[in-house]
Amino acid sequence: MNIAENLSLIKSTIPTHVTLVAVSKTKPVADLIEAYNAGQRIFGENKIQEMTEKWEQMPKDIQWHMIGHVQSNKVKYMIPYVSLIHGVDSLKLLKEINRLAAKWKRTVDCLLQIHIAEEDTKFGLDEKELDELLASEELKTFQNIRIVGLMGMATFTENQAQIKREFLHLKSIFDQHKPLETSNLKLKALSMGMSGDYQLAIECGSTMVRIGSSIFGSR
Ligand SMILES: *Cc1c(COP(=O)(O)O)cnc(C)c1O
Repeated sequence: MNIAENLSLIKSTIPTHVTLVAVSKTKPVADLIEAYNAGQRIFGENKIQEMTEKWEQMPKDIQWHMIGHVQSNKVKYMIPYVSLIHGVDSLKLLKEINRLAAKWKRTVDCLLQIHIAEEDTKFGLDEKELDELLASEELKTFQNIRIVGLMGMATFTENQAQIKREFLHLKSIFDQHKPLETSNLKLKALSMGMSGDYQLAIECGSTMVRIGSSIFGSR
């Protein structure tokens, strides 16, 4: 597995306006260093504790993205350094992120996770919950967070037509809400696509892909 080669291959296939998040969960720091030395500066992890351990050991010009489900009681460990939290799916969690970010005198960027898959195992807001969250008066009072986009995961299936349908659904939700702009809300990023489906995701309008196994090998 040549990490630098994999990275350059993937970069050659994604347009420059698409951000590549290298998903390094479960992989040792040595692998991350290889990617770093090949120029990669954005890493995604799905466990706060693992991300924090890696943050401590890695160069400080890395942007760390939390791509997994976030438990409120662990938010505090990543607030000093996290660059983008992808999996935010409740007002309660936003409130906690805002509270801790204020303590650290930071503004923390977040994506709202939308439920687009058929399986009900995946986290995320449905459209009604999204609208309720965005309409909330309390949200407007959060001065230390910024909602900068949406994130979603397609159903785990070989059925390309279904995956495409789900990505296009998320893209249409994104486009619908894009005109909304407040002091802490402006949708710019659409995070969708992983190793198996990122090309399709980009065709459907993704601006941020989260790629793990195609860079670092299977887990
Ligand atoms: C693990 C993970 C990825 C990367 O998956 P690969 O198939 O290895 O590219 C992307 N997004 C999320 C939310 C993940 O948990």
